[in-house]
Amino acid sequence: MELKIELTRQPKEKPADENKLSFGHIFTDHMFVMDWDKEHGWHDAKIVPFAPILMSPAATCLHYGQEVFEGMKAYRTESGEIRLFRPQENFRRMNESHDRICIPKFDEAFLLEALKKLIEIDADWVPHTYGTSLYIRPFTIGTEESLGAHSSTKYKFLIIMSPSGAYYEGGLAPVKIYVETKYVRATPGGTGFAKTGGNYAASLKAQDVAAEEGYSQVLWLDGVHRKYVEEVGAMNVFFVLGDEIVTPELDGSILSGITRKSAVEILRSWGYKVSERALDIQELVDAYHAGTLKEAFGTGTAAVISPIGELKYNDLVMEINHNEIGEISQRLYDELTGIQWGKVEDRFNWIVKVK
Ligand SMILES: *Cc1c(COP(=O)(O)O)cnc(C)c1O
Repeated sequence: MELKIELTRQPKEKPADENKLSFGHIFTDHMFVMDWDKEHGWHDAKIVPFAPILMSPAATCLHYGQEVFEGMKAYRTESGEIRLFRPQENFRRMNESHDRICIPKFDEAFLLEALKKLIEIDADWVPHTYGTSLYIRPFTIGTEESLGAHSSTKYKFLIIMSPSGAYYEGGLAPVKIYVETKYVRATPGGTGFAKTGGNYAASLKAQDVAAEEGYSQVLWLDGVHRKYVEEVGAMNVFFVLGDEIVTPELDGSILSGITRKSAVEILRSWGYKVSERALDIQELVDAYHAGTLKEAFGTGTAAVISPIGELKYNDLVMEINHNEIGEISQRLYDELTGIQWGKVEDRFNWIVKVK
């Protein structure tokens, strides 16, 4: 497929102070757009100036939530190189989400090349300060003008990009997590493994309740037994139990995080015993009382590693590792961010250079 390019004639001011960049409010000069219809399949791929998109108020995505998204980052190294972290994994996962939400699949290799081109064009938007990055949001929406509740006959695939600040402004810090016992995020047979907006819509209520109680995110339990640990907000979760590191197995209702996968590979390469298995919340409570719950942390593209300092389950408040960053959490954080920002050797071949 051909990629058309139309450059902006009105480049925007770049953010003056990179230390004040927050997340997801500023967008670069260009975006990628591609359309799908029955006659042409995916077609009309182009890079155009960032601008509002025009669609019918009857577009299917606005009514029945036919939407899929991804989240990834471009990093600038000290020597000025711009690079991506395992982007093939994001496009592969996006196609799996497409399949679940009934959106036609796309050519992953073509999209990676298109993304590299987009970043190259907006290269000056990749921030320079260590810890900052260019957040990349590919997403697909159903755009057919129809109120019929069926899968759309038209789609739009877009990539927008946003320079974002360091996740931990004051350095890595533990968070407080609330174990959700009333609401569920996903169920077997549902869409939990897909990165789709509907999962987020369903999770906002619990997030609000947790925030009111002073907790930053929710730990989800499984939707059937209400006792197996699933994930934390928009992160996968790991627990150090004695000399075993446990993360819930991917059972269809958990999002298959790329940071999760990378963490498992790194930990195993260091010789740790990592188990992907069912984890009953009661096992965590017992480990806490026995003193073997040593560390807990979340993994995701945004925070990379998020140490958990406190876990509240019903009336039990469990302080983990004295509410301090654990040794394994810190080491993993340093290794992953080191690989991403080019300070540690890329021994797994995870980095894809843009320029
Ligand atoms: C994106 C996401 C994650 C983390 O995935 P990464 O690929 O590591 O960024 C975890 N859980 C949910 C629900 C997510 O949407």
